[in-house]
Amino acid sequence: MTVHIHPSVDNGVKKGSGHFAGGTLVCKCKDKQVKVGVKGDVAHNHACGCSQCWKPEGAVFSVIAVVPRENVTVLENGDKLHIVDPSKTIQRHACKVCGTHMYGRIENKAHPFYGLDFIHPELFTEGGSAAPGFAAFVSSVIETGVNPSEMPAIRARLKELGLEPYDCLSPVLMDAIAGHVAKAKAA
Ligand SMILES: [Zn+2]
Ligand SMILES: [Zn+2]
Repeated sequence: MTVHIHPSVDNGVKKGSGHFAGGTLVCKCKDKQVKVGVKGDVAHNHACGCSQCWKPEGAVFSVIAVVPRENVTVLENGDKLHIVDPSKTIQRHACKVCGTHMYGRIENKAHPFYGLDFIHPELFTEGGSAAPGFAAFVSSVIETGVNPSEMPAIRARLKELGLEPYDCLSPVLMDAIAGHVAKAKAA
């Protein structure tokens, strides 16, 4: 059985160029595409199994990374964007027509990840952005319909791809969140 993770990694994880200067994210519409400019490279790129992240048709995981929010600019057809669910911590700005999430933004200034926007590097028209380095919220794919019996094969495939599977975020990001909480408590 072939285990599908996401089309951008199923044939192997493509390494980043190491000097990606930024690019343009384009939605899946045939015309009047929403275009979002991103300055500089992405960080913390990873596969995500949660039910909130946008995934292309047929993918089990999304691939998602962060960039500083000031590096993100809507370039074209911004009138087609809407916020998928304004009650969520990450406000996902998606194309109303094709459903593609163009960027996710946190407006709560107290949030550990405030200042970072979440984007899907597969939407870049340019290649070379930093490659995914781990897989987050792996067990959550069960909530989106994956049979629990498939999990050992999915975890094995993620490891084979070099995407260490975690059931929350990676240790680096979990430590960053805990550090933020500790600082907030001390203040
Ligand atoms: Zn669209
Ligand atoms: Zn996610």
